[in-house]
Amino acid sequence: MAGTREGAIVRAEQYFDEGSFLADLRRRVAIPTASQESGSMPALTAYLSDEMSVSLTKLGYECRVLPNPRREYGPFLIARRIEDSARSTVLTYGHGDVIRGQESQWREGLSPWSIAVEGDRIYGRGVADNKGQHSINIAALACVLEERGSLGFNSTILIETSEETGSPGLSDFCAAHKAALKADVLIGSDGPRLDPRCPTIFGGTRGVLNFSLKLSLREGGHHSGNWGGLLANPGIVLTHALATITDKRGQIKVPEWRPKTLTASVRAALAKVQIDASAGTPKVDTAWGEESLTPAERVFGWNSFEILAFKTGNPDEPVNAIPANAAAHCQLRFVVGTDPHDIIPALRRHLDKHGFRQIEIETDEMVMNATRLDPENPWAKFVAASIERTAGQAPHKLPNLGCSLPNDVFTDILGMPTVWVPHSYAGCSQHAPNEHLLASVARDGLRLMSGLFWDLGDKGGAR
Ligand SMILES: [Zn+2]
Repeated sequence: MAGTREGAIVRAEQYFDEGSFLADLRRRVAIPTASQESGSMPALTAYLSDEMSVSLTKLGYECRVLPNPRREYGPFLIARRIEDSARSTVLTYGHGDVIRGQESQWREGLSPWSIAVEGDRIYGRGVADNKGQHSINIAALACVLEERGSLGFNSTILIETSEETGSPGLSDFCAAHKAALKADVLIGSDGPRLDPRCPTIFGGTRGVLNFSLKLSLREGGHHSGNWGGLLANPGIVLTHALATITDKRGQIKVPEWRPKTLTASVRAALAKVQIDASAGTPKVDTAWGEESLTPAERVFGWNSFEILAFKTGNPDEPVNAIPANAAAHCQLRFVVGTDPHDIIPALRRHLDKHGFRQIEIETDEMVMNATRLDPENPWAKFVAASIERTAGQAPHKLPNLGCSLPNDVFTDILGMPTVWVPHSYAGCSQHAPNEHLLASVARDGLRLMSGLFWDLGDKGGAR
């Protein structure tokens, strides 16, 4: 056993400063792994077989690319480096797929499938979500390996390629490969830091369920001069139904959707949390959301309802007719304690009670459940202490993130605590044109993860 913690961190700095991080990321971003596009299967497979397996095999990992139990979706990679079965095992997760390129919408000079660096920004599809983030973690594992000659713990890496379509097949896959994925803890990276200048750790995520409200009253539109006042307008009826779900500041009025889990310990953890107000992020609407809560409690400790899209008639070419249909595409983000199986039945009861029986609710049942890790959990404390040692400042600690990840698969199916260390920030434009990663945060993330993996090696024998 040779080397030092500082030596591993210096290797991470050199990896970034000498351009190797950009070179690795450039190759990965160039593979157009847009899982939402039909025909993306060859790219998804290539990402795992040609890119990740080759990189990880060089680090002594045994790599297997395995099909999705739902054949129409992208494959999985399980990479394992078992040093000593008596030592602890750390599972690391990432997703190799990205959302669609939106090629025509990127700013002049930028394109989704090639890297462009401007100042502190590294542009490219997936640099933040999630290729850059798992590339940082894999590089940090490599730095510790080079410095120490071994990791000092067993490492398993799981990379999926359908996260952006809701991770279909992930839970069945993990259930089927429980033995290969068994670990003491999951340490993963996705999502944003609360503030780009300070590391964040989070222990879970909000859940998410998308659904549509639809009202179809008759076949075809009818002239509003002849029929206005005689035929019910589905747009107006649906608007009134939606208005029973929240009040005008977005406070939820469906009783079962109002969480009872904003406990004293969660509130105490969130009391230290400020919402990122750096340049490039929108200003928080203080007159929006649950009035009695702080902004941090609203996004991390509470549920939120959104109308994502609404349509009646033809908004692009309006005509003087009473439309036949109206539809609203909606979403509930929810925290631990909200029963995911009762979200739609509760809405049904609520709409019925308010006289909207004729409105149909459709959902594809692609629910990601909510998860949360107590900030006092020993693994959360271990990771926080390691990061504080490297960064020289304590990280922000969140019981859960506001966004959603398939984290319930790790907590509920694989049964392990989860600690996430995000390397992006809220203004990164993930899921939009001009997605970027902050170079300063990427470099910092490489240092933090190298320190963390070094410390895990020290801890490796003591489970
Ligand atoms: Zn995403």
